[in-house]
Amino acid sequence: MPEFLRELLEEPGLRKIAWGVPTGYVVTGLLVVFALFFDHFDLLPNTDILIFYLAPLKFATNTLMWWAIRKRILVLELSGLNQFADIVLLTAVIHFTGGPASPLTSLYFVVVAIIAMLTNVGVTVTAATIMVLSYAVMLTLISTGVLEIHDPFLKTMYQQNEVGWEIVVLDVFKLLTLMAIMVGSISAVLRMLRARENELKLKNEELLEASRLKSQFIANVTHELRTPIHGVLGLSEMLDEGIYGELKASQRTAISNIERSAQTLLGMVDDLLSLARAERGRIVLRPVLVEVDEVLDELADVARWIAGPKPLEIIVSSPGGDRQLTCDRAALMHILTNLVSNAVKFTEQGAVSIRAHHEPSGVVFEVEDTGIGIPAEELDSIFEAFEQVDGSESRQYGGAGLGLSVVANLCNALGATFRVDSTPGKGSCFAVTVPWQPPEVDSSGEVESV
Ligand code: ADP
Repeated sequence: MPEFLRELLEEPGLRKIAWGVPTGYVVTGLLVVFALFFDHFDLLPNTDILIFYLAPLKFATNTLMWWAIRKRILVLELSGLNQFADIVLLTAVIHFTGGPASPLTSLYFVVVAIIAMLTNVGVTVTAATIMVLSYAVMLTLISTGVLEIHDPFLKTMYQQNEVGWEIVVLDVFKLLTLMAIMVGSISAVLRMLRARENELKLKNEELLEASRLKSQFIANVTHELRTPIHGVLGLSEMLDEGIYGELKASQRTAISNIERSAQTLLGMVDDLLSLARAERGRIVLRPVLVEVDEVLDELADVARWIAGPKPLEIIVSSPGGDRQLTCDRAALMHILTNLVSNAVKFTEQGAVSIRAHHEPSGVVFEVEDTGIGIPAEELDSIFEAFEQVDGSESRQYGGAGLGLSVVANLCNALGATFRVDSTPGKGSCFAVTVPWQPPEVDSSGEVESV
């Protein structure tokens, strides 16, 4: 099928054409008001054609169009009919305002330009052809005396029979030429834009596929990496416990350094895995009852363990009252461990405080430190993947810049909110509010998050 016909039969974009319905009602309503005004003061004859035939016709086709958009049926057919009614109405208005001498003739071009923007070349060419034809019909009816004209100058010419069929043909030819030039140039631009749009669509799809493959690759690799890291951790623990014989103090220190490095590596691998899962919309949450105090104690151990020989005071304060919340424990611990490990990493001396308090909306966990702090202008960007305040090769603190983006993703999945207050040189406080209940739990008790 030729491109032109294929475009003509293309289902129009609902969103694009929907705005035409209210506009149609308003414009037709205004025309009726003007017609009534001119009729009242006897300024124009035959306005009843507009009021009693053309305006109701347009109201009817407009209403059919509205119905078609709502029901999503016959949209193509009724949008064509509505456009036809628009053109007939416009030609009638041109006739009432002076026929070939009407300043409103230029509205044909405006309407064609709007149709071109909203639809495609096929529909635009068809609409332009109907306009030229309806204009030709109007001129023929005027020149044969069937329709009256309202322009005094033209009226004289017509009454003196000075306007013959040649003038009508010339006039129509003039409109046809202008319309052809306009539609031709608009079509060329439209085709160019369409080609660009298709190119971009294709590129976008390629990029999405590449990103999906990358996430899948990261998820697979990181999953495989966890097994050997756990092996290293397990063996170090057994060495530390003396299962392979008593160790000297220096050997114990070496083993605990191995453990610390393996834990750091495991943390990074878990961050990468969590990020890849979030990108693929595959974070599956298993909500369970979680004891707030237990979480705080565990975090304090993690903080002490990461701090090692660093002279840091780890302060824990609990809200008390044996309160429990329902959420995915692993995700919550992942969020809070990332915050605690940052607090310890970016604090050379002073204290790291881990605390919680209850609010009606949920439990607020806070991790505060007396470390280097974060400049105000960086507070938003640090939650994006790979963003670090100091991202240089020679930076003092290690890390891949993933921890806080994992925090943001997991908070989103848990329905939790987070906020950070920080003063450079004084310290930072990260707060996470976890709701008492997870946002949506299906019958299996699992929450699939995007
Ligand atoms: P990473 O810690 O691996 O660099 P994160 O995503 O966890 O990545 O943190 C991003 C950046 O935010 C860090 O590089 C650091 O510049 C800043 N940041 C995070 N937490 C703190 C903190 N407690 N104190 C100071 N800076 C912090």
